[in-house]
Amino acid sequence: MNNPQQNDAWSDCPTGQIAKIVQYSKSRERHLIARRVSLCVSTFCVLLFAGYLVVGHPFAGRLLGGIYCQDVIINSDSYLSGEIDAELARKIKNHLALCDTCRTKIEQKKNRRADESSQLFQQDRSTILSSLTLNRKNRKP
Ligand SMILES: [Zn+2]
Repeated sequence: MNNPQQNDAWSDCPTGQIAKIVQYSKSRERHLIARRVSLCVSTFCVLLFAGYLVVGHPFAGRLLGGIYCQDVIINSDSYLSGEIDAELARKIKNHLALCDTCRTKIEQKKNRRADESSQLFQQDRSTILSSLTLNRKNRKP
């Protein structure tokens, strides 16, 4: 039943050998996790940098026509009122030809301005008409 050769192949571990193996295994596992995390972080950084090179600054929008979306929106009031540098106006015009998002925003702003000026005109007109009416009433005895 008992094989004497098998019993000779196995021997007791030296004291602390199992603890060393467990410690080595945990250390190796931590090292592998650290390598995976650093690989993920470096891949993310490379992709972020590549995206920056291809698309541009993430919060400034796209660079089209020589100007970022953010700068188009910042200068939109001056652009719409015509009080802007000719070079900047040219860049904005080129940008609007290429960027649907900015073109929509500028159109909305333009329409809002037209509505506001129309309302102001109506208010001015009614104020003028009412003052004329008052003047007429005041003239009659
Ligand atoms: Zn844009």
